[in-house]
Amino acid sequence: MPHLPDHLLAGYRNFMNGRYPTESGRYRELAREGQAPETMIVACCDSRSAPEAIFDAGPGELFVLRNVGNLVPPYEPDGEFHSTSAALEFAVQSLKVKNIVVMGHGRCGGIRAALDTNAAPLSPGDFIGKWMSLIAPAAETVSASTFMTATERQTALERISIRYSLANLRTFPCVSILEGKGRLSLHGAWFDISTGELWVMNKETGDFERPVLE
Ligand SMILES: [Zn+2]
Repeated sequence: MPHLPDHLLAGYRNFMNGRYPTESGRYRELAREGQAPETMIVACCDSRSAPEAIFDAGPGELFVLRNVGNLVPPYEPDGEFHSTSAALEFAVQSLKVKNIVVMGHGRCGGIRAALDTNAAPLSPGDFIGKWMSLIAPAAETVSASTFMTATERQTALERISIRYSLANLRTFPCVSILEGKGRLSLHGAWFDISTGELWVMNKETGDFERPVLE
């Protein structure tokens, strides 16, 4: 007998009774034509920062990559297993997305672990420490700032990690070439979980600002 946790089956029942009937035409069209999302989002795995919910996106609209800390590693064609780079390559080269948004968020556990090197590791496994070491140099710099509060350090590194990932995106030749031709735009955003506010990176200054909504 097939089985899923009850809350997932209940959610699926709601989907089949509500959202699916209203969007079935769109689903059928996407099945027939294939997907053609214009935007890729790189977000954290955190269950509180789901891009489809924040951007009110329907099926086929967003190509979403989620990993711990919403990090993009540098371009390293070394024959190893690079899931983030594979998704990026597919989005840019095959789907030809027009936008890539790196979206961080407040209270990020991965960022907190990167800052708090004295604390017990986030997990007893082999992978998160190595993964978050991507931003270790920035974490050390931020940690050394004793004039900042713990909350300020956390927010600072969350935003620095977004700028870091954007810089790494540009180390991928396919990204930098298409951005240079004006066919791909890179963006940064930071989601405040408690208030629901989305702060958007100013391309000129790198600062995060709240957009004016109409
Ligand atoms: Zn996170």
